[in-house]
This record gives sequence, C-alpha cells and structure tokens, in this order.
Amino acid sequence: MRWATWQWGGRHHVGTISADGREATPHAVVDASYGVLPLIQAMVRGEPLPQPSGTRLPVEVITLRAPLPRPLRSLFCVGRNYHAHAAELAGSVFRQTMPAEDPWPIVFGKLGECVVGPHDAVKMPLPSASIQIDYESELAVVIGQGGRDIPRSRAMDHVFGYTNVNDVTARDVQMRHQQWDLGKSFDTFCPMGPWIVTADELDGRATRVRGWVNGALRQDGLTKDMIHDIPTLIETCSRGITLYPGDVIATGTPAGVGMGLKPPQWLKAGDVVRIEIDGIGVIENRFE
Ligand code: MG
Repeated sequence: MRWATWQWGGRHHVGTISADGREATPHAVVDASYGVLPLIQAMVRGEPLPQPSGTRLPVEVITLRAPLPRPLRSLFCVGRNYHAHAAELAGSVFRQTMPAEDPWPIVFGKLGECVVGPHDAVKMPLPSASIQIDYESELAVVIGQGGRDIPRSRAMDHVFGYTNVNDVTARDVQMRHQQWDLGKSFDTFCPMGPWIVTADELDGRATRVRGWVNGALRQDGLTKDMIHDIPTLIETCSRGITLYPGDVIATGTPAGVGMGLKPPQWLKAGDVVRIEIDGIGVIENRFE
C-alpha cells in the first residue's frame, strides 16, 4: 500500500494512494498532524487499519505533505554509502579512508524539524550561513516494529516501508564541523515523499534512485550497490539504541552530487531538484 498525508478542504488527511498514483482515499485518523506516524504505531500494536472515510479524490487536487511531517526525533542518515559516491568525494576534505574498507557506516542525525513536503519549496539560507547548497537523492527506510539490538538476519521484519528524501546539505557547513548534523539540518532541508510504499510492495534492497537538477539527470544508482546494505544499517542504528515505529533511516546517496562535479556546481535560487525512486514515485522541489 501507499500511505500518504495531504491537505485538502482546509484540513490534513491521512490515507492511501491508488497503485497508479492517481487517486487518494482518506482514512479515519483522529489526528492527522503527525501524518502516517500514528497509523504505523497502531499497526505495530496489532490494531485494525483505519477504514476509508471519505471521498476518493484525484491526486492533482490535493496538496501532498511529507508522509511523516513531524518525525518523533532526528532522522538517522548514512554517509558515503555507495562506492561511486565515496569515490567522487575521495579527493575532498572528507577522511581519506574509503568506506568500503571501513566496517562501520558513517551515521549522523538530521533534525526532524527540517522535513518538508514532496513539492514544497526549499528555502536557500543567507549567504553568510552557506554558499554551497547541494542535493542528495536517497531511499529512506521507515521503521515499523521497533526494537533494540536488531540482528541483520531479522532486520527486514522491522521495515514498515520506504519513501524518498532529499538529504539537502550545506557542504561548507558540513565540512567546517567535525560532525555533519548542522550542515544537514537547515530549515526545509529534508523534502520527503510523495508517500510511503509498504515493504510488502517494494524491496528497498533492489530498486533504483535517480536525481535531476533542472531536468538534467545527475544521479542514477541501484540500491544493491550500497556499501552497507539495509539490514546492516538497521543492525547498526539499533545497536544499544531503541528504534521506534516511524523512525527514518536515510540510506545514503549515489554518485552525482554537485560537490562531486568538476568543478563543483552548487544549487542556486530557482533550481528544481527532482528525485525518483522506482516503485515509490517522485518528489520535486524548487529552491528559493
Ligand atoms: Mg545523505
């Protein structure tokens, strides 16, 4: 199924999107302000799914919001997790060890407050804050059943579904600090959506992630080429830390970010970044 959050008729709604992506059906959810989150929590508790509760609408007339507009906490994000992307940044100031030689993934946090919808504007910061804004097309795993110390072998049982995120990054800020969180967490720096596709319909280990800037294809990667696969990421993030239903793990970006181009090309106001993941759909955000 495809679970989404949207605005229509002056209200927020949670519901399902048809398999062709064309129709939205609201379901009876008491508080839609947290999007799909309460529904994931209810499903994990074994409660029945909320019933359809309104008129089916064409997707064109609704305003999609992020499926998880207010994550409970920071997003877990993985750095340099595709071989070709690690190679394109090897000459940068990032540490020189190639991630493939490192048994531990790079994991950082991105503040949940920076999540915006699949077609919302991303606000460029003041030049005094950053002049090197970059995009990162990523598959994000949404946790269903929570847990701590989840072994690789059972990790996929904890996946509720998948969505797209753009891990927008202020490169100069990211590199200025030992930790990446500040440069990853500017307001509006996490477009998400257009919905969550449940794990019974998509295997995130075998899909394709593409990203375009102003219509030009920049990123094209297969998730099977991750250095640390999804089970490893869940095992890693849950080691000593309880994962909760609705937690998000952004799995890293394929090659082709602006920083990896020679010379680097930073985003500017007016640019449009489109991300498509096979089996999920498209998010497209204007930078302004
Ligand atoms: Mg990233």
